[in-house]
Parts: sequence; structure tokens; C-alpha cells
Amino acid sequence: MEHRFITKRFWKDTSTAMSKSYAMARQFDDVINLSLGDPDLITDANISYAAYQDSLAGHTKYTDFRGDPELRKAILDYYHEELHIPIKDEEICVSCACLAMNLALQAILDDGDEVIIHAPYYTQYPQQIELARGVPVILNTYEEEDFQINIERLESLITDKTKALVINTPNNPTGTCFTEETMRNIAAVAIKHDLVVISDEIYTLYSFENPFMSMLSVDGMRERTIVINSFSKDYTMTGWRIGHIIAPDFIIDVIRQISEKLIFTAPTISQRAALYAMTHRDEIQPAMREEYKSRVFYAAERINNIPNMSVMSPRGTFYLFFNIKKTGLTSQEVQMKILQEAHVLTLPGSAFGDCGEGYIRIACTVGVDKLKEAFDRIEKMDIFK
Ligand code: PLP
Repeated sequence: MEHRFITKRFWKDTSTAMSKSYAMARQFDDVINLSLGDPDLITDANISYAAYQDSLAGHTKYTDFRGDPELRKAILDYYHEELHIPIKDEEICVSCACLAMNLALQAILDDGDEVIIHAPYYTQYPQQIELARGVPVILNTYEEEDFQINIERLESLITDKTKALVINTPNNPTGTCFTEETMRNIAAVAIKHDLVVISDEIYTLYSFENPFMSMLSVDGMRERTIVINSFSKDYTMTGWRIGHIIAPDFIIDVIRQISEKLIFTAPTISQRAALYAMTHRDEIQPAMREEYKSRVFYAAERINNIPNMSVMSPRGTFYLFFNIKKTGLTSQEVQMKILQEAHVLTLPGSAFGDCGEGYIRIACTVGVDKLKEAFDRIEKMDIFK
């Protein structure tokens, strides 16, 4: 809003398609909402009980600035045991979910520094970069290239202002997982041009084709990689707003200083919940992973059986980014038609960057029975015949 009391930086509305979808979901009583990546499952009851018990036992105060030491240790044990990456305690800071991205960007960016993001991108990235006074630079990826990063195109975007590259694999919205070759090529470019890589690894659990690969495991990348992760998706804990950052100790030290000014410490109760989740992951995660996996594979099959839409075989996350170019309509027009005629709420691909035009994103955050109903309704639509 343009008002003298408002900073000019926010005179332009920066609401994303995600925030608008709340209002759209209320248009009809029977809307099946596939727009947001907020899982329908609720947090495992044992996690909630553990957090409750811990609060009664006195975990209601501030924690250490870099997070509860027990939680830090549990996260580092996880990296060691599951990903075989040894990380020192000085290289971790517990944070509040997506605040981690802001802390990472604030720690490394000078005003006007450029940050390359690959599109289709998580809708918040461009403005997260602008909030940290950086300039987002968009690198398109394409279905024909499996939405992998094309290294020549990446290099052609690098200027003397480029400071960092944000990568996200497994990817929201496309579901793509970068191959080992892509990861090594990105690393080679980052090293050659002395860039920081911010690796958003929030969908670690949902890598269906190959084991998850962290940028931290690529040779030579530890000293220039900032990993951000959260408990939101891998543990179905979106509302607890808890996550962590792994980075070289000198970057973590700056992140701690910024975090202190913004939130002092991450919420203690959420940290205790995260501790239980992390140390009981073998009991909690397998069923969740299988549930989401069966949903995306079911939905992909339905999509590929409907004329005028198609999708690549699912590789990761619980999103599907399906091609609707044959309808001849824009992604926003198709989104509106699906909502009006089938009462199913999706997101238009254009919300994820210009190269997302011609696609629709769904989040498989309802069970197979609801997905069935959604696609039974969609396949009756004229534009898909
Ligand atoms: N990064 C990606 C790629 C996401 O898809 C999301 C949420 O959907 C986030 C970050 C933020 O998640 P949270 O703040 O819940 O950790």
C-alpha cells in the first residue's frame, strides 16, 4: 500500500499465489485444496506429548543462542549416521523454519549483490532475496532437460555482482531431484566463480529415485555451502516453525548474531519437539514417506491418463508440476477453470516464475481417496477431453 507511514519498499504488494489461495479455497463448500504444501497429516502424537512433558519439566525458558545443545547434537548425529557427513557443533544454528533463509542471505549479502535462483522456484525466494537487499537473478530450467540446471546457462548469468546461488533439491514445485552430475557441475561453477551455495534441503525425506544427496557431500563444497533445512515437511511439523542451518563456523557466528537481534532464540518448546522427532525418526518417518509416495504416484498416473495433460514420473517431494500446454490456455486460466468447474484448487505454474507458464502445480496433501475424487472431477472438464 502506498502510504507515507509504509516503507516504499512495500508500496508494491508482494503477496504470493500461496497467500491468495486461502481466499480462493473458500469459494465453494466442497473444494479439494491441492494448492498449499501443508500436509493434511498432523504431527505424530508422540512428538507433541514429548514437547508437552518437556515444557512441564521446565523447558519453557530461552535456550542457547544457537539452539538447545541436545537438539544440535541430535541433528549432527543425523548428518553423521544418515548422510555420512561429519559436522562440528560450531557449524550449526537452530532456527525458525524459513527464517533460516533470511538469516543466511543477511549474513552473506551486501546491498545489490546478485543471487541466482533456478526457476520454476519456490515462490518466496525472489522476495526473500530482496528483503535481504539482494537482487534475484533467474535461471530457467525446462521439462525437456528434466528441470536440471544447464551449466552453460548458469555460467552466462554470473557477473562481478554474483554472490550466491540458491538451489532446492528435491524441488518444489517440479519434484525434480538433481542428479549427482548436476550437483558436481554446480559445485564446479561455484568454486570457479567463488560463489556461496545456499542449499534448501527441506524435502530430504522425499527423494524417491535415488538416495538424497546433500551439497555438503560434494568435494570442496563444505567451505562455501549453507544448508537450510526444517522439520516442516520431513516430520509433518509445519506449525512448529523449527529448522536449522549448517554452514562454516564463521558464517554461523554471524547468523547467530543476526538471529539474536531478530528472535533471540528459536521457540524452546518447538526445539524439544524437534529433538524427539529427530531421535525417533526411524519410528516416525517411514510411514509418512510411503503415504506421500503412494499419493504422488497415484496422482501422476491419473494425470498421464487424462488427455491434454502430462507429467514426468515422480522423483521427489509431494508436488506434481503437470504440463497443460495442449489446452492452449494459460496456467492461470486453467487454474480458474479447474476451480470453477471441478472445485479443485491448484496453483498456476506462472506463480513459480515465467518458465512455469504452461504448468499447474498440485500438492498431494490429501489422501488417495480425495485425490481420486479430484481427478474424477477434473477428467470430466471439456478442456481435458
Ligand atoms: N523452502 C521450500 C522449497 C519450500 O517448499 C518451503 C515450504 O513450502 C519452505 C522452504 C519453507 O518451509 P518452512 O518455513 O515451513 O520450513
